Amino acid sequence: MNILVLNCGSSSLKFQVISTDLEVIDRNEDRALARGVVERIGSEALITLRAEGKPAVRRAAPLRDHRVALDHVLRWLVSPEAAVPGIQSLADIHAVGHRIVHGGEKLTRSVIIDDAVIVQIEDCIDLAPLHNPANLKGIYSARELFGPGVPQVAVFDTSFHSTMPPESFLYAIPYQLYVRHKVRRYGFHGTSHRYVAYRYRQLSGKTHEETNVITVHLGNGCSVCAIRAGESIDTSMGLTPVEGLVMGTRCGDIDASVLEFLHHKEGMSFEELDGLLNKRSGLLGISGLTNDMRDLLEEEHEHQDRRAHLAIEIFCLRAKKYLGSYLARMNGADAIVFTGGIGENSPDVRARICRDLEFLGIAVDAERNAALSGGKEGEIGAAASRVRLYVIPTNEELLIARDTLRCVRNVPRRW
Ligand code: ADP
Repeated sequence: MNILVLNCGSSSLKFQVISTDLEVIDRNEDRALARGVVERIGSEALITLRAEGKPAVRRAAPLRDHRVALDHVLRWLVSPEAAVPGIQSLADIHAVGHRIVHGGEKLTRSVIIDDAVIVQIEDCIDLAPLHNPANLKGIYSARELFGPGVPQVAVFDTSFHSTMPPESFLYAIPYQLYVRHKVRRYGFHGTSHRYVAYRYRQLSGKTHEETNVITVHLGNGCSVCAIRAGESIDTSMGLTPVEGLVMGTRCGDIDASVLEFLHHKEGMSFEELDGLLNKRSGLLGISGLTNDMRDLLEEEHEHQDRRAHLAIEIFCLRAKKYLGSYLARMNGADAIVFTGGIGENSPDVRARICRDLEFLGIAVDAERNAALSGGKEGEIGAAASRVRLYVIPTNEELLIARDTLRCVRNVPRRW
């Protein structure tokens, strides 16, 4: 089955076409037939398209909205010029899987999208006002362009964390606010945490019930997840993705009263403060240079930039503190898994996070660690490390494609 995986942001559309099937999943032989991204939708859009085994095609076109952008992508996908293997017409795309950021408390599993599901996703707009409307645009566009014959499935960033107990998901604020407005921690990056936990099982030979790991997703957004018996029992992101670790442009954990203080001192509105914490903080805010970890590491190394160094150290220290607290949260874990752009590619950051944690049974092997980047998968722990340490590249699109297949085929799935 060929599945179009769509991930729509406010002005972007990322896609992959993945060929998969039930026996293909068992053999891990799914294929990404094509992938691409459309950026700056709404003005002169930048489009990057790549068919399997071919060089990327880059072009610009005025694409006024997500429907026009998707239409552009679909025309390319079926064109002889693209020559995507197995795709000659729209009929060769059998289902569409959508990444949806927020499913709230009700949408706790991947589901086939019908009118009722759309209403439920719309109901979660309050909880994710930037993300869900963009995700919905993807659904509306795909429905229009494919028609009712092609099933569409929603896969939620929040759903893997729906197994968290109230002790983990409730904030220590008046309980009525949870009852009235559903103010609670939801957690995000669920598809990534779930995927790397699944790969960990395959690499270690553990069963679902034996999966007791801490997964550390370090990308532009960053989060940690405590997984016990295969299920998420705690995670660092909260009502929104701003809580927890230091990120590219988000501050992570902060004293909530800073908002009131800055409101008075700087005369900032709540919208401005929200923008400050989400878009101008984190690595960017501390360094004053960039949100990009690779560039910061270079600045630190080449020019001994003091604030680049500080930003990286604060980033690593926060992650280290979370590792310690999650080991306690889980009464010990069998393994720690690093993933995401930084977690997969930076031996330096991984080593700094794990520095001096031998007393907790965490010891990195310098050589193994240095050898793993650029999409490689494997262990980086020293022989003496009681907690095993893994680097596992994430693949959220693959999990979305597989969930889409299972929903369409009505096959029950483990989480
Ligand atoms: P997103 O969360 O947007 O999917 P990614 O998971 O791709 O982002 O992560 C992006 C981050 O990964 C950036 O900070 C980037 O600098 C960092 N990164 C990518 N490659 C490296 C590398 N070789 N060394 C350090 N950081 C890297």
